[in-house]
Amino acid sequence: MKIIKEINQDILNSDICLIPTMGALHNGHLSLIEEGKKLGLLTMVSIFVNEKQFNEEEDFNSYPRPIEDDIKILQDLNIDYLFIPESNYIYSKNDFEIIDSGVLGKQYEGSSRPGHFDGVLTVVNRLFELIKPKVAIFGKKDAQQLFLIKEMVFKKRYEIEIIEGKTIRERSGLALSSRNLLLTDSGKEKATLLYTILKEVKKEFRDRRELYAFEVFSSKYPNIVIDYLEILNLETFSKPTEKTYEYIVLLAATIEGVRLVDNIEFKLEGA
Ligand code: AMP
Repeated sequence: MKIIKEINQDILNSDICLIPTMGALHNGHLSLIEEGKKLGLLTMVSIFVNEKQFNEEEDFNSYPRPIEDDIKILQDLNIDYLFIPESNYIYSKNDFEIIDSGVLGKQYEGSSRPGHFDGVLTVVNRLFELIKPKVAIFGKKDAQQLFLIKEMVFKKRYEIEIIEGKTIRERSGLALSSRNLLLTDSGKEKATLLYTILKEVKKEFRDRRELYAFEVFSSKYPNIVIDYLEILNLETFSKPTEKTYEYIVLLAATIEGVRLVDNIEFKLEGA
């Protein structure tokens, strides 16, 4: 595995499968990497804690950065490149394009974290410009992010195939996340409620087609602070209509001051 800080001509001459991360690697990241390795391209993992997508300085500063552990994990996986750029390489000369994530970028996760998705799209766009990958892999765990990235690729007519990795969970149902490292054991136990709630919403909606009440779940699970709980059309990320067949439920909550997001997809049976 070559550890690089800058992109060179060899890389530009190769067919790269890029897996962008912010490090603190867990099995969710590893499953994306395993997917990538199956493609027969050169596999590149990037680790870059992108300040532009943090709307709170404290959140950026406290984001876990176990870089030595990450390097060991990746060495064992036998990937081709680990790209660990400096911020001034990614955002050189301040003449990079700032991507506007549009209306959807200001809703749901974007409503609570102003500028977050502009920051995400800006860095992903920079990575795409610098590396020119053939394929890039992102997790469905961050479903709104994935949707916005696919939209950006479409709008910019990038010839980059986007592969969607399934969400990897602990046995308890808790979706793996680097932020889980910031939780105590009791916080982690509470955090399992996110998936419990998502499964309940899915069941309620499928059984009764009644739009669940955010307030119902907020009062039923007072141990966690629910930020939003939304059922959307999976295809469009807009509010469902009578004709919607595929759905996604988005949930964000704060536990011990740590912001966690999760989602579940489902289809209406017999529709
Ligand atoms: P992050 O390091 O949090 O920016 O995540 C890097 C990539 O890993 C993103 O595409 C995430 O959607 C994906 N990811 C994060 N958690 C999981 C998970 N539990 N399962 C699968 N993919 C994940």
